[in-house]
Amino acid sequence: MAKVIAFANQKGGVAKTTTTLNLAAAFAEAGYRVLCVDMDPQGNLSMSQGLDPETLEKSMFDVLVHDLPIREVTYKCEIDVAAASIDLAGAEIAMSVKIGRERSLDKALRAVSDDYDFVCIDTPPSLGLLTVNALTAADKVIVPVQCEYLSMRGLLQLQNTLQMIRENLNPAVDIMGILPTMVDTRTLHAQEALEILEENFGDRVFGARIKKTVRFAEAPVKGMSVLKYDPTGQAADAYRRLAKEVLSNG
Ligand code: ADP
Ligand code: MG
Repeated sequence: MAKVIAFANQKGGVAKTTTTLNLAAAFAEAGYRVLCVDMDPQGNLSMSQGLDPETLEKSMFDVLVHDLPIREVTYKCEIDVAAASIDLAGAEIAMSVKIGRERSLDKALRAVSDDYDFVCIDTPPSLGLLTVNALTAADKVIVPVQCEYLSMRGLLQLQNTLQMIRENLNPAVDIMGILPTMVDTRTLHAQEALEILEENFGDRVFGARIKKTVRFAEAPVKGMSVLKYDPTGQAADAYRRLAKEVLSNG
C-alpha cells in the first residue's frame, strides 16, 4: 500500500510544488514507485513536468467531480503525474453538492494504492475543499515554510484545520515535518527564522535545509526536477537528504 504524503501550507510561494516534485523525484531515484497528484488549479506541478494544463482533455477535475479513474489522468513523465487543468478551479463548486465530497481523492487513490510506494500530493495555497481532499487522503503532511517570511499564524491555522480533519474525516493524519525552504544562510534573518521554527516545533523541523538557488526556477522551464536537471548539485542533494529522513521516519 502506498504511503500518501500531502504537501500543504496555505501560503503561496513557499515551495510546496517544488518540494512535492523534487522529493518525489528523489524517491524515484532511490527505486521507489511514485505518483504525484496535482491538486492545484494553477497546474504548476503538471507544467514543471512538461504538461500543459490549458490543453489537457482530462484531469483531476474529472477524477474529483465525475469519479473518473485516476489512471486515466496519469501521465508518464519523469515520474507519474496525475495532472491538473485550469478547470480544476471550478472543482470546489462542482463538488459542493456531491455526497462524500471530502473523500473523493481518497477514494480515487485507493484504486492505485498497490501500484505505488509513495503518492505525493501538491495542494493549492488555501485550506479549501481541494486541500481538505488532500489532507483526508494523506497519511502524513509535509509543511514547507519559506524562512524569509515566516508566518507562525499560518502554521497555527493549518494545525487547526488538521485537527478538524482528524475529528471528522481522517483520524490518523498528522504533520510529519516542517521543511525550511529558500534558506539564505548568509542572512541573520534566515538564522533567526530557523531558530524560531525550532523553538516552536522542535524535532518536527526536518534536518534538511533547502537553500535558495536559481536552479529551482531553471529546472521547471526544462520540464525537469532538479535531480534530473542538475544531478550533482546541492539543490538535488538537499532533496535526497530529505528523502532519507522521510524514509527513516517509517
Ligand atoms: P508554492 O507551490 O508553495 O506556491 P513553488 O514551489 O511554486 O511554491 O515555488 C515558488 C517559486 O520559488 C518558484 O518560482 C520556484 O521555482 C521558486 N523556488 C522554490 N524553491 C526555491 C529555492 N529553494 N530557492 C529559490 N527559489 C525557489
Ligand atoms: Mg504550488
